[in-house]
Amino acid sequence: MAAAVTGEVLLGINGIYTVQAGNARLQCRIKGKQLKEESRSYNPIAPGDIVEVAPDALSAHEAMICSVLPRRTRLVRWNKKGRAPQVIASNADLAFCVCSPASPPFRPRFIDRLIVAAESGGMTPVVLLNKCDLATSPETLERLDHYARMGYAVRSCSASRGDGLSELASMLIGHTSVMVGQSGVGKSSLLNALSPGLTQRVGELSQKHDRGNHTTNFSVLFTMENGGRVIDTPGVRELELADILPEEVGFHFRDFTPYSGSCAFQPCLHADEPDCAVMAAVESGHIHPDRYESYLRILAELTETRKSAHG
Ligand code: GDP
Ligand code: ZN
Repeated sequence: MAAAVTGEVLLGINGIYTVQAGNARLQCRIKGKQLKEESRSYNPIAPGDIVEVAPDALSAHEAMICSVLPRRTRLVRWNKKGRAPQVIASNADLAFCVCSPASPPFRPRFIDRLIVAAESGGMTPVVLLNKCDLATSPETLERLDHYARMGYAVRSCSASRGDGLSELASMLIGHTSVMVGQSGVGKSSLLNALSPGLTQRVGELSQKHDRGNHTTNFSVLFTMENGGRVIDTPGVRELELADILPEEVGFHFRDFTPYSGSCAFQPCLHADEPDCAVMAAVESGHIHPDRYESYLRILAELTETRKSAHG
């Protein structure tokens, strides 16, 4: 049998993964039950994963995935159907949290979630407001500015008018980035504006899998013309978090850190403990109440999903 080779997963649909191994593009299935069962996750392999594949002696285009190499970073969400965490992108450095001022409306709590998902998975979040050609309310501008004051990279652009696209293109160079956001914020439009013809290429890639359905309900990794690599993820309405310890959530609310060391209880979940310095800072107006609300919701949700998790 030919020796195993390593490759990178570009996409996976219905249990068939497209793996780029050198110049070869292989269609792979997961070998045996072991890999499927040892990971508790809903879908054990995601775009960006580096895998070891055993070539098929009879077909130059097919192979079996034997193992997944340890991930540098991961973007995980809770899969309701599978009642398990699901990795939707692996080994990206930057996570672009894409939002829009309108259609769909600006939802800062969604951004808070994306930031927690990105940071807890080891990626650097970038808040990206697309559709900046549309009227942006003073409240939205203020919240974006708040993210910037907290030290997050915040950029704005317009896929349809072209604003900010060259800066975005240069941010992508030399990195693997993942694009996440609500459906309709314009991720596909952005990627197409940056790399014309991309949708068509993705369609061609996925054709083999879903027999021309052209669904975009999966993540896909591709290389941009200028060298950057991007993992596009399906638009979501909600993003439930998973695989984060409740006591870890506060670390990803960096506006809490000046206060959290002064809480009477350590560790403090800043929920109902007495003499909590974070709650005091919310009351005195030093922490944005909406950020605290985001935090509480994420905390409650993680407790829920842990209860309903398999095993
Ligand atoms: P996705 O679901 O995030 O991939 O969003 P799409 O790329 O499919 O875009 C959703 C809608 O927003 C489409 O009707 C686009 O034409 C529109 N859209 C995308 N980018 C912009 C933009 O920069 N400005 C405006 N005004 N509309 C945009
Ligand atoms: Zn506290």
